[in-house]
Amino acid sequence: MEISYTRYRIYRECPWKYKLLFADGRRIPMTPKSSFGLSLHRALEAWLRGGERTLESLHEALRAQWLSAGYPDEDAEARWYSKAQRILHRFHGEEESRRSRTVGVEKEFIWTSGAHQVRGMIDRVDQGPDGAYELIDYKTGPGVPTSEEVAKDGQLRFYALGAKRGLNLRPSTLTVDCVAAGERVSAPYDGAGEDLLDADIRAAASGIEAAAFSPKTSFCPRCDFRKECAHSVAKSL
Ligand code: SF4
Repeated sequence: MEISYTRYRIYRECPWKYKLLFADGRRIPMTPKSSFGLSLHRALEAWLRGGERTLESLHEALRAQWLSAGYPDEDAEARWYSKAQRILHRFHGEEESRRSRTVGVEKEFIWTSGAHQVRGMIDRVDQGPDGAYELIDYKTGPGVPTSEEVAKDGQLRFYALGAKRGLNLRPSTLTVDCVAAGERVSAPYDGAGEDLLDADIRAAASGIEAAAFSPKTSFCPRCDFRKECAHSVAKSL
């Protein structure tokens, strides 16, 4: 069984949701928010992978990577596109003042946990002047986490474990780069709880392999399938 962070997270949210998405092939329709977020991620990845660091090349990356799916009409899409341009303009200004060096973009790791393979892609890995590694995750929503929340962020901790076991890279810092808000929030990475996380990833992978897909209704109010799922306790929300 090969497990990624997305599969692990969804299985832990609700095993039945995992079944709907990955066994039955159900799809969650794109919304302006999800489409916008994906376009920004794609543009940043393309720009960071390319050699040129100009503002023009960043706007060109946005043009090339923009997805039109998910918007109700052209006016709405144009408003979100303008917002993406403003965000990237500010991002470029901040990028110029950074002293760290980017050493990985969409950096993939694979490692073995028991009988399973754990795979992931880290948005960005930077190395500071002191040689220390920083794992960066881009968020495109409006919220900004606290440093304590970043330290506990499940995705970044999954990636930190993957960086250590799959890339032999020891991260010192975890960072959420809230590109829409223009804020970066960091926390030192202490490595605590890695064995527990490893065991939980392994347990989730074994559950998926055994087709153990019992519904977990505590997640229903936040689930994309809550209106049509047979087990939903939040159909009216
Ligand atoms: S609606 Fe509830 S039970 Fe159904 S998939 Fe979502 S979280 Fe699981």
